[in-house]
Amino acid sequence: MTDRKTELAANLAKVEERITAACAAAGRAREEVTLIVVTKTYPASDVRILSELGVRHVAENRDQDAAPKAAACADLPLVWHFVGQLQTNKVRSVVGYADVVQSVDRSRLVTALSKEAVRAEREVGCLVQVALDAGAGGRGERGGVAPEGIEELADLVAGAPGLRLDGLMTVAPLTGEYAGREQAAFERLMDLSTDLRRTHPAATMVSAGMSADLEQAVAAGATHVRVGTAVLGVRPRLG
Ligand SMILES: *Cc1c(COP(=O)(O)O)cnc(C)c1O
Repeated sequence: MTDRKTELAANLAKVEERITAACAAAGRAREEVTLIVVTKTYPASDVRILSELGVRHVAENRDQDAAPKAAACADLPLVWHFVGQLQTNKVRSVVGYADVVQSVDRSRLVTALSKEAVRAEREVGCLVQVALDAGAGGRGERGGVAPEGIEELADLVAGAPGLRLDGLMTVAPLTGEYAGREQAAFERLMDLSTDLRRTHPAATMVSAGMSADLEQAVAAGATHVRVGTAVLGVRPRLG
């Protein structure tokens, strides 16, 4: 194995151990939690190694980096998630490779995604990104819609051609009542998911938890954790 492959394999094994332990502590089966490796800022060669090591889900947050990377890895059996704030002028490109867009947070984005998904003859999974630090009707600093806005957006996605409503996503807030209370934040997201599933039973995905707080997310009931740093290393720049 190359040095990088050895390093990534060791990091993946540690993350796998953490997820397994968190599942055991929560009385959950390991299969209930899917690992998504966030490969942003890292090269396509790392994505290829991760695929060889058995990773099946990867995530990116900037179309400029993600589009060429996804193209270079088009031969790999990967599910691509888009997790960044998304401008409508990037939607056509993102729909070309993303299987799931986790950062749906406004109606204009739903309209644009639907139009491009239909044009590309693709079905794009969508998560409504929830901002637990947003004021009612407002948006979060890092994207996301306030809990009050979930239902309207979810209905819009569910009725939009080319789109599939898969569930909810959040990032633990740095400000507001949930600052420093990751598990409480993720439990709130689970409650919102329970509400959502009353009207959209197939929207079962709950994406929460990153390198620093994946245990809290698993404890709260997350179905997907998004881990970057703990697998790939500290990013060279903010991304
Ligand atoms: C970067 C990023 C992650 C991964 O964060 P780490 O702390 O590196 O694990 C997860 N989710 C989103 C939305 C991100 O942008």
